[in-house]
Amino acid sequence: MNTLIKITYIILVGFCFNQVYSQNTDRATIIANIEFFYYDNPSNSTYLGVDNQQVSNGTESGAFWTNANTTSLRDFVRALLKTPSNGGDASLQYYTAKLLRINNRKIAVYLWNDQTAFTASSVPSTVHNPRPDGTGHVWPHASHWTLAQEPNWGGYMDMGIHYIGIHGAQWLKETFLHELMHAEDQTNSLALPFNVDGHWYHYGNDGSHFYTEAVPSKRFAYMEAIAHVAAFYYNYSQFQQHFNWFNRNGDMRVERNAPSQWRRWLRQLFGYDGHVWLHDEIREATGSSGRRLNNQYSVYRIQDLPGKFIVHNETVMAMMMTMTSMHVAEIDPFIWAVKTFNTRISANQGQDPLALFVKVFSEGMLQSGETISAIKQELDARNYTAASVDTPYTFILPLAYSDYFTGYTSTTKDQFKALFNNEMDTDLIDIYWDHFKDRVRNNVSIRSSRSLTDMTTIAMQCGVNQSYLPGTSGRRYEGN
Ligand SMILES: [Zn+2]
Repeated sequence: MNTLIKITYIILVGFCFNQVYSQNTDRATIIANIEFFYYDNPSNSTYLGVDNQQVSNGTESGAFWTNANTTSLRDFVRALLKTPSNGGDASLQYYTAKLLRINNRKIAVYLWNDQTAFTASSVPSTVHNPRPDGTGHVWPHASHWTLAQEPNWGGYMDMGIHYIGIHGAQWLKETFLHELMHAEDQTNSLALPFNVDGHWYHYGNDGSHFYTEAVPSKRFAYMEAIAHVAAFYYNYSQFQQHFNWFNRNGDMRVERNAPSQWRRWLRQLFGYDGHVWLHDEIREATGSSGRRLNNQYSVYRIQDLPGKFIVHNETVMAMMMTMTSMHVAEIDPFIWAVKTFNTRISANQGQDPLALFVKVFSEGMLQSGETISAIKQELDARNYTAASVDTPYTFILPLAYSDYFTGYTSTTKDQFKALFNNEMDTDLIDIYWDHFKDRVRNNVSIRSSRSLTDMTTIAMQCGVNQSYLPGTSGRRYEGN
């Protein structure tokens, strides 16, 4: 029990140290890399700008600060740019700066007065298109811009004061972090084989997604997952809520509406992704259509599904990423993995995103000179099954948490490989399955597990009994 307290304590110390140390650097990163554009009237090309340096200095002035409609936005802008004693939110600044450093490019944040519903066609063509939703209000949205698409900006975000007014200041901060990760994510500018007859099916037929949904495209589940991680770190209760849902074996939605079956036969000819028909795939594998929720969705208890379908859920991926990184060095190993994933996904856009992410995540936690294959040989040679682990095997944590967050549903090594579409490094699979799986499963049961302590037990079964302060681990994620 002492060791459990110790690891929690060390994680917290690492976190506080980071925040104090980097506050000024964080604000400088934000001042240089975010620019706000406020449109009080979306039908007019005039906008109000924000001088970041002035806000930081406490001398903010101009129409943005006196406009009657910007009251909900002013505290938010101050939270991002001011020192903590003057209204700044150090934690928000800390995570914002971490995300901005993924690409080190400027992000345009468009803020819209959408209290009166408007249409995209009413916005002048010279102005960025904010894409209002079906009710004429701006649903938060962000996207990455490649250098070729836009040399001066790395991405953009749209937020409207209509939804900010409904959900409040805390929601705004969490949503900002979520959207900022989308703006930093190079995968959202890649091609997708989910278009059938001109209609997109990456989130399913309805084009929208839920925290508790298995969506057809694993890449879109990945994109939402990495966006959730930033918000989970900023507000831990968000993580706890989804963790509870998973542990009580809550319902997972699957959309039934898909193109007709005869098109599925043509998928190879036209290059459609087979997961467009995800509900049919699940029904064929389980013999169950699930429980009908409404005209669009059926639900399954999440842990009753084969693991290879559970990983189509964004929240499950996000929890695996959060727990892995948190037990090693707060958010840093995760940020390194996202950055490295960005550089590797373009080379082969058809790669399974979970396989690539877990592989990169593991590699980031190796010390220089270490290789997965050499570690496997060493563990195999001594038939490693020691009762207490002799050294921190940090690189195995992404697989251990992938096993946990798929409910230990893989009963064979082949089923475990299927979580990663059979694309995972086989040495990594072998190391986890042959040397760590049993100890993880024997020490943390799925259905009775309810606390972060259980998550720490998983780390300890892989030898990770303390986390690292920045700059002290000697592992690859500390570099660039
Ligand atoms: Zn999102």
